Amino acid sequence: MAMNRIQFQPGLSLPAFQAQFGTEEQCADALEASRWPQGFHCPECGNADYYLLKGGKHKTFQCKRCRLQTSLIAGTLFQNTHLALSIWFLAIYLVSQAKTGLSALDLKRQLGVSYPTAWLIQQKLMQAMVERDAQYTLSGDVQVDDAYLGGELAGGKAGRGSENKVPFVAAISLRNEHEIS
Ligand SMILES: [Zn+2]
Repeated sequence: MAMNRIQFQPGLSLPAFQAQFGTEEQCADALEASRWPQGFHCPECGNADYYLLKGGKHKTFQCKRCRLQTSLIAGTLFQNTHLALSIWFLAIYLVSQAKTGLSALDLKRQLGVSYPTAWLIQQKLMQAMVERDAQYTLSGDVQVDDAYLGGELAGGKAGRGSENKVPFVAAISLRNEHEIS
């Protein structure tokens, strides 16, 4: 399965992150480039010609050949989200840079969202990281380089000495929608 990733380098400073991903437009552009490195291709027929549909919150493409409509976030981690992509990116950044795990409460405070929203974000990011590599299971700590998503799950091996160390921080995977069965 092809995986496209948006990656934040380890040690990326907050100002550097904000310069790169501080606006909704920057995040949308990064997501688009991640999904379609060679430009949009219809997930149904592979055609590269499209119309841009106006009006939606997120960029929506319509294939000129088969008329399929595809939004930028459809089939990704962010599907059906009501949150700005910039909030999601900030959440991913915070999780990726955290040294000792980030609780839903931490996310709530730092993102300025409600607790249920923060909890949902945390669950989705954990799920994305689990899907990224089958060796991570929900029963264990989900480890992303030095950062741990901890606090809410018990069991598993924690700490920097864990054997499942991933060399890259917060490689949040995005599944192309035609790969979802
Ligand atoms: Zn098409």
